[in-house]
Amino acid sequence: MTGASAALAVFDFGPDGAATGHRLVDPTVPALTVMELAATRGDGVFETVGLIGGGPLKLDRHLARLAQSVRMLDLPEQRLDVWAAALHDVAAALDPDVDSYVKLVLSRGVEGGTTPTGWAYGQAHASFDDVQRDGLRVVLLDRGYRHDIAQTSPWLLQGAKTISYALNRAAYREAERRGADDVVFVSSDGYLLEGPTSTLVLREGRALCTSRTDLGILAGTTQAELFAWAEAQGYSTSYDLLTPDDLAAADAAWLVSSVRLAAPIRSVDGAAKAVDADLTSAFNTHLRSLAG
Ligand code: PLP
Repeated sequence: MTGASAALAVFDFGPDGAATGHRLVDPTVPALTVMELAATRGDGVFETVGLIGGGPLKLDRHLARLAQSVRMLDLPEQRLDVWAAALHDVAAALDPDVDSYVKLVLSRGVEGGTTPTGWAYGQAHASFDDVQRDGLRVVLLDRGYRHDIAQTSPWLLQGAKTISYALNRAAYREAERRGADDVVFVSSDGYLLEGPTSTLVLREGRALCTSRTDLGILAGTTQAELFAWAEAQGYSTSYDLLTPDDLAAADAAWLVSSVRLAAPIRSVDGAAKAVDADLTSAFNTHLRSLAG
C-alpha cells in the first residue's frame, strides 16, 4: 500500500500501558469505540508531524514533546521507538509527492478500562504557499490566564499538548468574526503568549525572540528548530516576556508551526505590519530541508 491519500496505524499495548507495536489498518473503517476517553473527555495527548517528500520533519523534537505531555497527564510512559516505527510506516503508505502530516495520538483509553488507546493517522494537506507569501491578519485575544499559570495551577495542563482543542478552535472562529485569519493570545496581565496552534516569533534587527516557554504555552518544535538554524546564521535568539508593544515595534513577526511552517504576520488588530519575505523564505527552505 503506497500512494494512499490517508493511512492509519493503531497501537497494541502491554500490561504497563506502553505501546509494544502497531498494525496498519484501513483508515476508512471506524477504529474507536464510543466510550473512548479521547472522544468523551478529550483526555489524551497528541503530536502533529509534518511530512515533506514522505519524510518527517524534526521527529525527535516531536517525540521528546510527546514524552513530556505524557508525563504531564500521568499517562503511561511510552517507548518512543515504537511510535517512530508507526509514523514511518504510515508515512511510507502516503503519496510522497504531496505534503502531508501524521497525527500521533495517545488517549487514556476506554472509560472503565486500564489500557490506553493510541494511533498514528496520516493524510495529505492543502498547500500553504499563499499564506507563507501573503501573510496572516492576526488579532490579539485575552486568554484569561495570568502569565504564571503553569506555576500556580499545573492541573490546568498549560504547556501539555492535549487533544482538548475546543477553546483553540473557538478562538479561530472569533478571529474570523473580527475579519482576521489567526490569533495571538495575551495573558490576563498583558503578556504575549502563542497562537492557538502556533508559536510567535519576532525579529528586531538581527535578533529573534519568542515568548518564554514557562508562560503556560506549548514549547514549539518549529520555533526551536528555527532558533537553532538562525543562531548558526549569526542571529541572536532569546525567550522573553513580550508585550503587544513589542509586537507592534518588531521589524517582522511570524506564527510558526509544524504543518503551515513559517507564516508572516501582515497585520495586528488591523494595523499593518511589514512582511519579511526573504527571511520567511529562508525559514521555510530550512524547515523543508529537514525531511528525514
Ligand atoms: N502552540 C500551540 C498551542 C500549538 O497547538 C502548536 C502546534 O500545534 C504550536 C504552538 C506550535 O508547535 P509546533 O511548532 O511544534 O508545531
